[in-house]
Parts: sequence; structure tokens; C-alpha cells
Amino acid sequence: MVGAAELPEFDDLFQRPGWMRDALCREYPALEFVPTVRTIDPECVEVCRKCLFRLECLDYAIGRPSEVGCWGGSTDNQRVRGRLERLTAVELIERVDRPPGAHRFQR
Ligand code: SF4
Repeated sequence: MVGAAELPEFDDLFQRPGWMRDALCREYPALEFVPTVRTIDPECVEVCRKCLFRLECLDYAIGRPSEVGCWGGSTDNQRVRGRLERLTAVELIERVDRPPGAHRFQR
């Protein structure tokens, strides 16, 4: 018989990255980070903006097109466009956080 101390962690079992264990979204079980509708709850985006693992999260989701929902404060469509333009997670965060109508200064 295997004791509880010998059982692998859930994240290890499914090869999920360690940062997911401490992700801020886990403290908000009432929010739907993977909604059943196409609209992302702005409250989820606000939580993501405060999360210490935002960059890791977005990088993870950029590399996995099958993942849906709010990852790193981005929507599915934003990640699709980011992949097409080969944006890094940092560049996509900059774009996602840019106020509507604001353009990046170009030299
Ligand atoms: S960035 Fe958002 S979805 Fe990703 S781990 Fe943090 S809180 Fe969760």
C-alpha cells in the first residue's frame, strides 16, 4: 500500500508547471477564467494583472493553442493574433495592457 506522502502531486502527475500551484486565480474560485461564453470577465483580467506568474502563464498559453480562456490577462483572440505576429509573451502583455486608441511610439 502506498502512503499519502508517497503519492505524486496533481501538477506533477499531469506535468503542469509548478507556478500553477501558486497562481493568483486559485484564490478566486468564483471567477470563470475559462468561461462558457466567449466574453472574458474583466475581473479576471484585473486578477491576472496582479499575478506574479503572468509572464509564465501567458508564455504557456501562447505555446498551447488548444488552451482557451483568460491566460495572463489575454483573450483567445488576442493570443491567436499574437501567435500570427510571432509576439513574445512580453510583447503581448504590452499590447493587451495598452489603453484603447493608444499607439506605441515608432522610431
Ligand atoms: S496570470 Fe491569471 S490565469 Fe495566469 S496564473 Fe495568474 S491569475 Fe491565473
